[in-house]
Amino acid sequence: SASNIVASLRSTFATGRTRSLDWRRSQLKALHNMLSEQEARFLEALWRDLRKSKQETAATELLMVKGEIAKLSKELTHLAAPTKPPKTFISRMDGLAIQPQPLGVALIIGAWNYPIQLVLLPLAGAIAAGNCAVVKPSEIAEASAALLAELLPKYLDQDCVRVVCGGVEETQQLLEQRFDTIFYTGSSRVARIVMAAASKHLTPVTLELGGKSPVYVSHGIDLELVSRRLAWGKFMNAGQTCIAPDYVLCPPDLMQPLADALAARVIEFFGENPRDSPDYGRIVSDRMFDRLSGLLSETKAKRVVGGDPDKAERFIPPTVFMDVKPDDALMREELFGPILPILPVRGGVDEAIELINAGEKPLALYAFTNDASVRRREDSGV
Ligand code: NAD
Repeated sequence: SASNIVASLRSTFATGRTRSLDWRRSQLKALHNMLSEQEARFLEALWRDLRKSKQETAATELLMVKGEIAKLSKELTHLAAPTKPPKTFISRMDGLAIQPQPLGVALIIGAWNYPIQLVLLPLAGAIAAGNCAVVKPSEIAEASAALLAELLPKYLDQDCVRVVCGGVEETQQLLEQRFDTIFYTGSSRVARIVMAAASKHLTPVTLELGGKSPVYVSHGIDLELVSRRLAWGKFMNAGQTCIAPDYVLCPPDLMQPLADALAARVIEFFGENPRDSPDYGRIVSDRMFDRLSGLLSETKAKRVVGGDPDKAERFIPPTVFMDVKPDDALMREELFGPILPILPVRGGVDEAIELINAGEKPLALYAFTNDASVRRREDSGV
């Protein structure tokens, strides 16, 4: 049960095993070995869950975690070492040091869109900081969750790191336990549940949420370059990326040329028929597919590129709309799929900032401009 798991991790933590820098280094190394030795299995799991291409899985799941492990291993001694704060009048007679301490037992709850790195990055951090951890992968990326549940116990110290699979019920049982820190990635709806549960124990939380990340394109910029970067960032993982460009704001006379450039990039990247492209992913679940195809039938905007979705394959083609109004269905919530609306803003960067600030705070903002005064604007609220 959840309470037994947490109790056993807590008793290991109390022995001090995870405080040793050698233990931390050996666990980080084991995690790295797992990613190298089992690469083929990870590639297969992500193909099954999201039809992620090998290149995409290697770069955005495995290499990211390996890079983090390398960085943490290199800096470990330094990160764990005490620092000396300056003395004040009150402390002038004392020896002062700030000693970084492990928190204890961490709970890591992941989302399905990058099902490996979203749990292994925080796990690497938890281990480097000398903690025990429970990893709860997203049940929606089923193959990836099953693979983590199989492999993590084979590579890591099972007294210190445990995997719990399951959905709402299993997660809620975990959330009833007292953890020393909770790292959650996912929607803000569930984040409220996580934070409320954490508050009962005054457990600190880190919440990695979503949002509608805007793009602003201004005059005098190379639209080929802009379209290349947008098509890459938007259509990677079929748009299911938390910091993917969500919508584009640009002066009205740039809208058509930008739309044309994006349509050309879609063909260049994924061919005339993206369904046949080995580089183009699928939507993770029927629920997400229905949400996105609902938006496609609801929007009143003009479609520039894209075709019919196919439910059997959960395929939604790379789709671009232009002349989108701020009150269109596409602007209601985070799109989190391969749909890119372009909105004209007559009033330039001021109107763009006003429009962005009228919504919730986004995760990221992308400005394509050669104009230093646009680049320096700090009132965009992000
Ligand atoms: P999800 O459905 O996989 O849910 C996330 C986790 O919450 C899962 O482990 C799930 O089991 C658990 N969960 C679901 N319902 C629950 C409940 N009622 N009680 C307790 N636990 C519950 O993923 P999602 O929510 O669809 O995630 C997508 C969102 O995550 C998007 O908004 C995206 O932008 C965001 N995201 C953010 C980041 C980031 O780093 N900031 C990264 C990836 C995704």
